[in-house]
Amino acid sequence: MSEYKNFIEDIIDNDIASGKVKTVCTRFPPEPNGYLHIGHAKSLCINFGMKEKYNGTCNLRFDDTNPCKEDKEYVESIKNDITWLGFKWDKLLYASDYFDVMFDCAVKLINKGLAYVSDETAEEIRVRRGTLTEAGVNSPYRNRTVEENLKLFYEMRDGKYGDGEKVLRAKIDMASPNVNMRDPVIYRVLHATHHNTGDKWCIYPMYDFAHPIEDAYEGITHSICTLEFEDHRPLYDWVVKNCDFPAPLPQQIEFARLNITNTIMSKRYLKKLVDEGKVMGWDDPRMPTLSGLRRRGYPAAALRDFCERIGVAKANSEVEEGYLQACVREELNRTANRVMAVFDPLKVTLTNYDGSEELSVEDNPNAENVTYRSVPFSKTLYIDRSDFALVPPPKYYRLKPDGYVRLKGAYIIHCDEAVLGDDGEVKELRCSVVLNSKSGSDESGIKVKGVIQWVDAETCIDVTVRKLQSLLTDVVDGITDFNERYNYDSMKVVNCKAEKSLQSAKVEDKFQFMRVGYYVLDKDSCGNKLVFNEIVGLKDSFNANK
Ligand code: ATP
Ligand code: MG
Repeated sequence: MSEYKNFIEDIIDNDIASGKVKTVCTRFPPEPNGYLHIGHAKSLCINFGMKEKYNGTCNLRFDDTNPCKEDKEYVESIKNDITWLGFKWDKLLYASDYFDVMFDCAVKLINKGLAYVSDETAEEIRVRRGTLTEAGVNSPYRNRTVEENLKLFYEMRDGKYGDGEKVLRAKIDMASPNVNMRDPVIYRVLHATHHNTGDKWCIYPMYDFAHPIEDAYEGITHSICTLEFEDHRPLYDWVVKNCDFPAPLPQQIEFARLNITNTIMSKRYLKKLVDEGKVMGWDDPRMPTLSGLRRRGYPAAALRDFCERIGVAKANSEVEEGYLQACVREELNRTANRVMAVFDPLKVTLTNYDGSEELSVEDNPNAENVTYRSVPFSKTLYIDRSDFALVPPPKYYRLKPDGYVRLKGAYIIHCDEAVLGDDGEVKELRCSVVLNSKSGSDESGIKVKGVIQWVDAETCIDVTVRKLQSLLTDVVDGITDFNERYNYDSMKVVNCKAEKSLQSAKVEDKFQFMRVGYYVLDKDSCGNKLVFNEIVGLKDSFNANK
């Protein structure tokens, strides 16, 4: 963690210093209406980060107060993704378990004369609410007696009214400059089956009423949320105060949402892509969902590192997607084993080499304890066509007629002849091995500048590789609408020849294909048919000064 404190940590430090807060308690409150995305990772890192930093607690609470959009599949995926990111929640809770508490709070407000049942339609409420410049108008039902309100509210609960026929409103101030304080609706009639409580309830609390109660009931001290809730904070404070929760009351703190260029941060649009079959599912490796990024091969540690490095801001902004890729590349450079693969094979025959041998090649030069694997070498190899030039430009250090190059982990070879086909294309290279130049025991005295990857023709395996790009095209002519930016060209499938050690790779194993990029074994692999996803290229195209 960085040594600089962010503004949330400053607030917490003050609360501890003043004695207001003893144990820091946070929560992560996803609505189970979709899979988590990279934006949620930011919120997870902040909430669980505070738990770790202050030796506090962090609950996972499913905010499932809206019965219509929620699903158990999402609950399971969210639990999996959080665990994968490396966080452990203290309590696993469902907001719907508090429906009784919320009902009691509503009754309490009615008894205090702070809530009333209204028969207005949604449209009437909207019109009477006023605007930013005009005060609202009191509801004709505002002065119902406590007894009448209690009777009507119990009747709402008991199913006497149809959807939308009655609502419960908080009685605050129709002239408040903050529109959220103008007698907001806090309960509505909705005859819908809930995934957790079934048909027990036909009234459901509104978010702005439910959320503060959930926080206060659990003893959350710092309720961290995104900026769009800033204007709702006075209502949040009003609810926890008037429902008589014990101190310390939870404090809502807002931070700026994470936005990343060309990256969809809306569960609604991600769901649309899934429903329309434009992707292979929520975990498609092009999706910015955590399960998609995981399948794409982005390490959890890289995502956490990214969230830490971009910091916690109070103003909305957009981070370059290249910055996230740079964090991924850095992590993989440290952790991924190297292998050799050739995407555009050109046959090389070693005229002075017979038989075969097993070479020992290091897996990862950056590992703490370097390990080695066995790579077969024999008379016929493949190199990448782009590593040979019949007519080389100046300073060309790879293979050329009558030139030398080193084969990674093996020998120096000399190109004796390029065999051309009828079409003038190079069909094969006939080369000789410098026999005393073996890597690790080179006594040839020949200095070569170029080192290239290769595979043994006899033992190499054919693998399928998906080259992936963003699901969104760049913004052109100011068109930012996701629907108009779908990138129809975001996945290309190619083949390559790879060294046979990859045959034992397991799903999610990540590799650097030397001199090309990073790749991860996909779950669509089957038996001998291996499918890799491109994680990120080797070159860093991210420019921090852009
Ligand atoms: P979406 O609009 O994608 O549905 P949401 O905000 O409705 O997102 P929730 O499930 O309600 O999603 O969010 C759980 C938590 O994650 C909330 O505290 C929310 O503020 C936070 N969160 C969601 N998106 C982002 C983001 N892009 N950056 C930071 N935090 C986010
Ligand atoms: Mg939401």
